Amino acid sequence: MKYLDEFSDPVLAERLFDDIRAHTTRSWAMMEVCGGQTHSIIRHGIDQLLPEGVEMIHGPGCPVCVTPLEIIDKALEIAARPDVIFCSFGDMLRVPGSGRDLFQVKSDGGDIRVVYSPLDALRIARENPGREVVFFGIGFETTAPPNAMTVYQARKLGIENFSLLVSHVRVPPAIDAIMNSPDCRVQAFLAAGHVCTVMGTAEYPELAERHRVPIVVTGFEPLDILEGIRRTVRQLEAGEHRVENAYPRAVQSDGSPAARAMLADVFEVTDRSWRGIGMIPASGWRLSPKYRDYDAEYRFSVRDIDTVESTVCRSGEVLQGLIKPHECAAFGTTCTPRNPLGATMVSSEGACAAYYLYRRLDAPRTAPAAAAQPPRAANGSGGGSSGGGAGGSGTGHRNGARRAGTTAPARNTREVNSVD
Ligand code: SF4
Repeated sequence: MKYLDEFSDPVLAERLFDDIRAHTTRSWAMMEVCGGQTHSIIRHGIDQLLPEGVEMIHGPGCPVCVTPLEIIDKALEIAARPDVIFCSFGDMLRVPGSGRDLFQVKSDGGDIRVVYSPLDALRIARENPGREVVFFGIGFETTAPPNAMTVYQARKLGIENFSLLVSHVRVPPAIDAIMNSPDCRVQAFLAAGHVCTVMGTAEYPELAERHRVPIVVTGFEPLDILEGIRRTVRQLEAGEHRVENAYPRAVQSDGSPAARAMLADVFEVTDRSWRGIGMIPASGWRLSPKYRDYDAEYRFSVRDIDTVESTVCRSGEVLQGLIKPHECAAFGTTCTPRNPLGATMVSSEGACAAYYLYRRLDAPRTAPAAAAQPPRAANGSGGGSSGGGAGGSGTGHRNGARRAGTTAPARNTREVNSVD
């Protein structure tokens, strides 16, 4: 496919791998923020082909995964009301709440409809003036603008039976929270390219400077990711911590001014809880006072809900990069895409689903090499090539992996992921 296959070229991929190997002298741990990047890395085996000691830590950039349990439970309560048509993207329907999921509410008679755009929900509202229509608006800076625009349209058209259940989150405060964690071993970030397509890059230099971490804006195809890793390794090896744009075909430094203007009009920044992580100050959006009438939480008075989180699921640790999915005891046994115990197994962007789908079924035989490395305060100052366990010249492939992962992925044959 033109404009896509070019970014999976195995010859170019091998050159990028060669460059990364040639310039890696020690262990580095970097986090890809976005779940889409995680899936691409796992699908193409990129992490297995990196030099020994270069570790990809999977970040919290899956919107379905980080939607807090309280919001899921509120969605369940609203969706069960007989006067409500509840509209959502499909991957939210199987996310477990405290007791059930939206599929179960639907099977119990709830009018829940899968839509492909928030404007579909607005159309349904126009067609059903006697019903309340609620759209489940979740996601990062990427999905927030169309949801904001839909509320703007609803107000402009005088459609009063439409509302938005909002759970929008912002990436930069999450990066800040990850770096402030005492357990953090992330030394660099591959920032999510599509988020920067909307927001630009202005929020990142201060973060890079304060935490002394390279932040490289990165796309989603194999060559995009390898270029992001290549630039990140170069900075780490040089002791630098700059913001770089490795996705210039989509990202401008000022993002999309029109989308940001829409966000500023309809939303306001608020503190948000992230599932498995907790409250992160200023990490989300809610409807601004001007649009408060369209806020489903206010309209349906579902503000206080007691939640019951799974005692088995370790998705919080997965989302913070503290464990890999297959280190969870439930992974692939009691927790599968067909019977998910946590959102990271439900979502098409979840790390647990990626590991299951692409046959990463076994826990690592050895602890990650990066676990033995010096703390990140030594970033760039430890110097030289003596850092822990970089695998000598750093030219080795991991786990017997051989070539750039641009062939068809090996899917898990035990079960096909039914999440769309
Ligand atoms: S494998 Fe399942 S139970 Fe374990 S962390 Fe992932 S979603 Fe949770």
